Amino acid sequence: MNISEFYPIYLQSKNVVIDSRNVESGSVFFAFSGESYNAAEKAKEAIEKGALAVIVEDEKYYEPESNIFYVPSTLVFLQRLSILHRDQLNIPIIGLTGSNGKTTTKELISTVLSSKFKTQFTFGNLNNHIGVPLTLLSIRKEHEIAVIEMGANHQKEIEMLCEIAKPNIGYITNFGKAHLEGFGGYEGVIKGKSELYNYLIKNGQKILVNENDPIQNEKTKDYSSKITFGTSNSEYSFEPIYKDNFVGVQYQGAKIFSNLTGKYNYDNISAAVALGLYFDLNIEEIKSAIENYFPSNMRSQVQKKGEKTLVLDTYNANPSSMLVSLENFKSFEGSKTIIIGDMLELGEESSIEHQNIIDFAKSCGFDEIITVGPHFKAVHQSVNAFLNTAELIERLQLVPITKDNILLKASRGIALEKVIDFL
Ligand code: ATP
Ligand code: MG
Repeated sequence: MNISEFYPIYLQSKNVVIDSRNVESGSVFFAFSGESYNAAEKAKEAIEKGALAVIVEDEKYYEPESNIFYVPSTLVFLQRLSILHRDQLNIPIIGLTGSNGKTTTKELISTVLSSKFKTQFTFGNLNNHIGVPLTLLSIRKEHEIAVIEMGANHQKEIEMLCEIAKPNIGYITNFGKAHLEGFGGYEGVIKGKSELYNYLIKNGQKILVNENDPIQNEKTKDYSSKITFGTSNSEYSFEPIYKDNFVGVQYQGAKIFSNLTGKYNYDNISAAVALGLYFDLNIEEIKSAIENYFPSNMRSQVQKKGEKTLVLDTYNANPSSMLVSLENFKSFEGSKTIIIGDMLELGEESSIEHQNIIDFAKSCGFDEIITVGPHFKAVHQSVNAFLNTAELIERLQLVPITKDNILLKASRGIALEKVIDFL
């Protein structure tokens, strides 16, 4: 099957899916083959559920004169189909990358733009070489603008995602210490993320710049096609404002609060407000969109449990996001416990980075520091250093936490959210 022959079939489809459980009548189903995965069976199941087309990469499942199409590689076919589709789209595509805050910023921008435009955006965290094509293929003729999250853990990945998504506007949320292993240290992160700038500059597209970030400034200083915020000289000039533990943005006379905690979310909100203004939304529309957005995804989520305030930031962690999270938690009123879990994928810098976090945490004056995972345990000699969540849960059942505020933050692999029920 070739791409241009298949394109009209795709255009008639309801959606494009890679998980047979999500197949509906009218879906295009890509049957990626994998170990312990019977693509033939999945293909049949998809047809029974009414799939419009099934793409298989194993010739033996191919059935002539049926809705099952054979291609040498489902991945390559999916990517090429999305590129062909992207080239037909005549709407602004906003591409986001960065070490931390991509999903939050994507959601905030999408929420804001949705008050004026039919907006499509990355579903959840589908930000990789499969997620980006799927997002592009979910953009249909009714959509007026799209926001695409692009993730990476090694060099050249953002470059490839840019070649697929061809963003017209790009934003790097920040350069942080994440995926140090794959990128080859912090310099590697800066280089890898900057592939978005390289693409935008080469193609004369717009860059959204937080002028309060020295690296963003340095990397874009000789480029003029920018939308800027972050300082009083920027095109859009904001001030941070706080109410209880939540952060917001003041723009001229308007005060926009959010349901997010942390100064770092000030940057994320600012990016969304700046783009809203750039796309001619009025400040009232922007304000109402931001104020009605509630995080529900374990990213900087503040939740009451009885009298206690929990900050649930268990979705992921790396040295940069850990630092800003601790810094923010310091300012909470009342007694405080932090429960922090290992930061994964740090390679040879892992030990020193865990040590730095423990040192910083100790300097913050928290009432109690609890760690989970072998990396922290190696640098935190304490009865409050646990190897895993099961050990911590055992302790919580014997000795519950009595402090007013509890912060939970760890890499995804630690699954720290398991302890919430025991707090
Ligand atoms: P992933 O790599 O998993 O896709 P992401 O970049 O999409 O992550 P989010 O899921 O939005 O990031 O946020 C993850 C965590 O990063 C937040 O809970 C918060 O602790 C931290 N964070 C969010 N925004 C920023 C920021 N602008 N600067 C530093 N840290 C941030
Ligand atoms: Mg994300």
